[in-house]
Amino acid sequence: MSCLRTVFKLAFVPNSATIAAPSGMPTSASNSTASLVRRHHARWLAVLYACGAALLFLTPQAAAQSGSTMRVRLADGFDFPVGKPDADGFYKARGYWPNGHLGEDWNGRGGGDSDLGVPIYALGRGVVIFSQNIGVGWGNCILVRHIFREADGKIAMVDSLYAHLHERKAKLHDLVEKGQLVGTMGGNNGMYPVHLHLEVRKNLHIGMNRSQFARDSSNYYSPTAFINARRVLSSSMQKYDVPVNNFAPYGRALADTNSDGAHTASVDVPSFKSGGSGAPKDEPKQDDDFWSRLKAKMRGGQATSGTDEKR
Ligand SMILES: [Zn+2]
Repeated sequence: MSCLRTVFKLAFVPNSATIAAPSGMPTSASNSTASLVRRHHARWLAVLYACGAALLFLTPQAAAQSGSTMRVRLADGFDFPVGKPDADGFYKARGYWPNGHLGEDWNGRGGGDSDLGVPIYALGRGVVIFSQNIGVGWGNCILVRHIFREADGKIAMVDSLYAHLHERKAKLHDLVEKGQLVGTMGGNNGMYPVHLHLEVRKNLHIGMNRSQFARDSSNYYSPTAFINARRVLSSSMQKYDVPVNNFAPYGRALADTNSDGAHTASVDVPSFKSGGSGAPKDEPKQDDDFWSRLKAKMRGGQATSGTDEKR
């Protein structure tokens, strides 16, 4: 814009020669007019070339910036994504453990699949950076990016993932508040017993391509630990620039995003380890049959088992 203003200023501000041009002898007047026209053209060209060069140089950066950030206020605290407040009526059927289960599975206390369709809420204020049904082991997924102030005063960002949803209730780039409906609980169309798979990521580049990142606490938080340590945070009316497009499209590596698309898509699906070996020791025994139902689905070949698959 400033470049355009410069063009107009330089092109239309009266030339000092024009103002001073004498209206005397016809010949000198016509000479003077010709030289003025030449000078005027030269000035126009110089300005246009300068602005063209500036645009060539600046536009990709400016476009990327304006297209890939959104203004978001700091989250004023976090809550659980079910049974607000405080996950009332729900329990954690499986916990987070590094190199195993990178999130938590939340279940209703009603037993069976009675929790099908119950509301899933955003953990805190943020912006929706992903809302798609990507099938495979994931199904309907929502990613929300949160910006917040840690107790030590530092500004931080995390992504929260809500997976296997029955329905998605938020769109890409929606601004959401803590406790706002973003989806309903599902089981990825019968692949799993109905539950919410919840992740909280420190690394904002993961998106839906987990297999390309270390499966440990360098990239992930234990969701419950993260929430409990940040129930109430200081906030204000101030808005911050939050990147909303800094991870690879689903099934692609970040390094692929500038290529022509000729690549092998690496598809990442949730890991479901059978047996008790991977289960966290500190999970309280629940009277729900989540595990036995999950194992039955795995034996039946419905649920995705093992580690992340690639295809
Ligand atoms: Zn899970």
